[in-house]
Amino acid sequence: MSSFAPHFTAGAIVGAVGAGVSLGMVNDSNALTVSLPLICGVMGALTPDMDIKSKSSMIMYLIFLSISCYFFFTERVDLAFLTLVYSILPQFFGHRGFIHSFVFGVISAIGLYFALTVLLNVIALPAMIASITYFVGFLSHKALDV
Ligand SMILES: [Zn+2]
Repeated sequence: MSSFAPHFTAGAIVGAVGAGVSLGMVNDSNALTVSLPLICGVMGALTPDMDIKSKSSMIMYLIFLSISCYFFFTERVDLAFLTLVYSILPQFFGHRGFIHSFVFGVISAIGLYFALTVLLNVIALPAMIASITYFVGFLSHKALDV
């Protein structure tokens, strides 16, 4: 069982690598294409522990609440609602159950790619890099939990 700091550190390292990959692969890199993998790496590493009351879950809820408020105040109420529903989902599962599973990691990475490209109009390549970075961050959580 690992605590917050190792999960956060692993996610930040994965995110930094993803940001580097994005810098190298994306033409016309900008702050979004570089910061997105960094944030997604950390989110992937912290998401599994949203199924318990922890420092990781508090940070993730603050991130999701911030995203939801952003959507609400930019008149995307549908996305604000979707973000809140997604953030509540882990509370319906036991610790280290479905939310810690490989299947959930794949589903949430695909959902992230869909949200970035279809709902937020992010270009496909940076969205793909961010989604893969999220998934690798998620796997780092599973590796540290062993
Ligand atoms: Zn965990």
